[in-house]
Amino acid sequence: MTQRFSPSKVICVGRNYRAHAKELGNEVPSEPLLFLKPPSAVIAHEESIVLPRESARVEHEGELAVVIGRRARRVAVEDVASIIEGYTVANDVTARDLQRKDVQFTRGKGFDTFCPLGPALVRERPSLDASISVLVNGARRQHGHLRDMVFSIDVLIAFISDVMTLEPGDVILTGTPEGVGPLLAGDAVEVTIDGVGTLRNSVRAE
Ligand code: ZN
Repeated sequence: MTQRFSPSKVICVGRNYRAHAKELGNEVPSEPLLFLKPPSAVIAHEESIVLPRESARVEHEGELAVVIGRRARRVAVEDVASIIEGYTVANDVTARDLQRKDVQFTRGKGFDTFCPLGPALVRERPSLDASISVLVNGARRQHGHLRDMVFSIDVLIAFISDVMTLEPGDVILTGTPEGVGPLLAGDAVEVTIDGVGTLRNSVRAE
């Protein structure tokens, strides 16, 4: 049974794995770097990512997603676990050319279908040893471990909650490991996180 997520907002964290920051020529930030994806970008497991005609370079970013379970503001790091509903797998699909061109991330990260989430909510937090990987047409592109995050899940969510009220169902994408690369029409992309699941989506032209 495919689960559908309907967050009031999706908060994303950029450059939260050192090797990925480096591959894009960026410094590791001294504080979490936040941006938003609109809820209209969310699709479910096994739905299609649509390549918009405005971009010539759409890329995958496999990420651990955290789903919020209760309304919260200014949560202490040690209390973050109590506001989490569970975890799922995300693909922070990105029009890299537009992200670079605009400087602001809204367009490059915000197209419809650019936030696949699923396949299901898992209550238990994955271990720091869990690996995260992305396969395109069966070939491995991205690989890392949750322990490689620069800022931990608890630090990230406390930091975000100091900025905005988190609502039940809100989703936080925790950043991507190295190996981001292009998606082309006809591709099948799979993001797998040990203990959380495998999110699979096809890719098609608009
Ligand atoms: Zn990302």
